[in-house]
Amino acid sequence: MLDISVLIVEDEPPLVELLRYNIEKEGFGVQIATDGEKALLLASENEPDLVILDWMLPDISGIDVCRRLRARKETKSLPIIMLTARGEERDKVSGLDAGADDYIVKPFSPSELIARIHAVLRRSNPNFGIDQLAYGGIVLDLIAHKVFRDGKSIHLGPTEYRLLQVLIAHPTRVFSREQLLDQVWGRDIYVEERTVDVHIRRLREALNEFGGYDLIRTVRRGGYAIDVVKN
Ligand code: CA
Repeated sequence: MLDISVLIVEDEPPLVELLRYNIEKEGFGVQIATDGEKALLLASENEPDLVILDWMLPDISGIDVCRRLRARKETKSLPIIMLTARGEERDKVSGLDAGADDYIVKPFSPSELIARIHAVLRRSNPNFGIDQLAYGGIVLDLIAHKVFRDGKSIHLGPTEYRLLQVLIAHPTRVFSREQLLDQVWGRDIYVEERTVDVHIRRLREALNEFGGYDLIRTVRRGGYAIDVVKN
């Protein structure tokens, strides 16, 4: 399972605690913002995987926070579940119009909350909820963080593991160095593009330790991909 971080945006302490308790019980990390400004800041800086966004906030309304998140490049596809006491159809429509992915009406049951979080995460992240990735004889055990090639255990450093995880989630798709930097190192860290080449070389050496053909394809001026499996 991938590490999932949920940003809770809510100003009422009992509700914050209810949300936090149930979301942490699922094994997800939690960040909390008690107003809209803080929500916008945390959403940009801490890169949560999903936002639970209350409609009624002390400063900016949840709906405006939602619009602003959608308007920013770095949060434009961040999954958002709106939370509100209003159950009217037109509010639901305006929430979805503002770009929310889903909508929960208070009071809600913990099981409904968790089911909706899972559904939204599955839509936004095809790898959510699966415990292994496999392609071309390579298996990534996402629970144990172990890698195997043709049944033999391969030892990878954390960066090489993450690189392989990104590449193998979309076999044959070419990732530019910039995309790999974003997904493996994160947007906020400055790393030179040739660092990607260094770690790809290490990954390649580790994967080829016991022989077999080179599964990582270097695309000139393009980037890297997991190659089509040859028979
Ligand atoms: Ca509120």
